[in-house]
Amino acid sequence: MSLMLSRAYTARDGAPVIDRIDPRIFTLTYFGHCMACEFCEDSCCRFGADIEMPKLRALEAIAPELEAYLNVDRKHWFRTDPEDFGVIPEPEYPGGEYTRTSVVPQVRSEQFEEACVFLDPIGRGCRIHRFALERNIDVHTLKPMVCILFPLCYADGEIHPALELETDELVCQGPGVTLYRSVRDEVIYYFGLEMAAELDRVEASTLATLDLPVASSMVPLPMRSS
Ligand code: SF4
Ligand code: SF4
Repeated sequence: MSLMLSRAYTARDGAPVIDRIDPRIFTLTYFGHCMACEFCEDSCCRFGADIEMPKLRALEAIAPELEAYLNVDRKHWFRTDPEDFGVIPEPEYPGGEYTRTSVVPQVRSEQFEEACVFLDPIGRGCRIHRFALERNIDVHTLKPMVCILFPLCYADGEIHPALELETDELVCQGPGVTLYRSVRDEVIYYFGLEMAAELDRVEASTLATLDLPVASSMVPLPMRSS
């Protein structure tokens, strides 16, 4: 099911343009406090991610410093080779084109033996994100947009739950914060306060029909079983 918004909202870099939402973004929940999670092994990063070409160029512009930080040669960062994934035209991404981040062997668990090249291979978290934080750089200028908006996703003008929630593959799905509430600040960053205000109203009416509280995050969080 898709709900039309009162108007289309264009993201700050010109794409995407959103005019619909899947109301499940207000009801599906997940752990949400990613760096406090003790059981997920960052598994949402195991397939790598789409990256818009302006963001790729921003990373290449700091390649010497980032190469040293990652200890990974820049030629192994992305799948731009036409023999691999290549660079794909996509008007819904800023800049109109995207590729994928590379996936490399990373033994994190029996089920999880590869991951995005930018994921910390020993500890936790995205090294693009940490690199930016440590240098007081705005994360939005370096990290792929889809990673910042996760677990919201978008296609064909609609914001909806990421595919992993559709297929029950997100290990942290369950008790926690709703998808929308967890990244509402990023919705504001990309699409503005007016869109967030409209989504707040749609959220309230959606939850009222289900008799659920707004911002349904006051539920027990999952703990590591030992
Ligand atoms: S979204 Fe889930 S799987 Fe991904 S880092 Fe956060 S808690 Fe872990
Ligand atoms: S770029 Fe960062 S957040 Fe995105 S998939 Fe790779 S490690 Fe995860």
